[in-house]
Amino acid sequence: MPARIIDGRAVAARVRERVAADVAALRESLGSPPGLATILVGDDPASAVYVANKRRACAEVGIADLHRHLAADSRQEEVAAAIAECNADPGVSGILLQLPVPPGLDGAALTAQIAPEKDVDGLTPVSAGRLLKGTPGLRPCTPLGVIELLDSESVPLEGAEAVVVGRSDLVGKPVALLLLHRHATVTICHSRTRELAAVCARADVLIAAVGVRGLIGPEHVKPGAAVIDVGISRTAEGLRGDVDFDAVLDRAGLITPVPGGVGPMTIAMLLRNTVAAARLQLAAAPAR
Ligand code: NAP
Repeated sequence: MPARIIDGRAVAARVRERVAADVAALRESLGSPPGLATILVGDDPASAVYVANKRRACAEVGIADLHRHLAADSRQEEVAAAIAECNADPGVSGILLQLPVPPGLDGAALTAQIAPEKDVDGLTPVSAGRLLKGTPGLRPCTPLGVIELLDSESVPLEGAEAVVVGRSDLVGKPVALLLLHRHATVTICHSRTRELAAVCARADVLIAAVGVRGLIGPEHVKPGAAVIDVGISRTAEGLRGDVDFDAVLDRAGLITPVPGGVGPMTIAMLLRNTVAAARLQLAAAPAR
């Protein structure tokens, strides 16, 4: 029997609906809506499109769009000053520095300056440390989206064998930690992993976050496994994932398509993190 295809667009739409309701409630209690400051430095066309999509998504759920566009030749101190202003501004609930920043700027150092309670991308060292420790904090959006997709299908994670292919700070490591915190038995694979197919074939839950089109074939998939494809490769035929979808469809139990799987979840989780950030700040504010 072919795998059930998880409809990421539908799951993301449900998350956005809940976020819109939460935003309306927060507007009541705060007197103003939560706000997201997207910071775009320069004019890289791909980055501009990503930021435009995030701003549009904010508007759709009622989050205030507090965008800042800085010139491509901005100095490190100028970008740092913009971040500091957003950190200090009570109207800004979340801050997103669009990466990569232009050459000559240190994106990691700038990211580290974002206040942890406003770090809606979950990429600052403080947020990464909180994730490692399993203490409350804002988590990276794409990994959160992966877990939301698994939860949308009630995939059991406790005690499950989970294999994550990819070990980046952005996706692989955080998704592995989120699975570990849900009590999965987690293996992380990467470019030096031996016998990748044999390791992957142990997985009840297989997450591919590599960026190599079609890397994961049927020989990597345990019959009935849940297969989540984070990878994106731009090809002449459109976007493709790390998983050879047609070949794996008859072997997996659940599978995400590319496009229409993990992709729509990333912005949905960014919106949810913005609401979470607004709540964190509300809880930390001195009582009036
Ligand atoms: P990345 O930083 O390039 O990391 C890729 C990882 O894959 C690395 O850990 C690398 O191993 C591993 N790898 C490379 N070739 C491999 C191979 N042949 N076998 C096993 N592992 C291999 O990429 P990323 O930022 O994590 O993103 C991964 C993919 O997800 C990309 O396609 C990206 O476009 C996509 N993505 C999608 C979304 C979304 O919203 N859908 C969001 C973020 C990223 P080493 O560490 O050993 O080099």
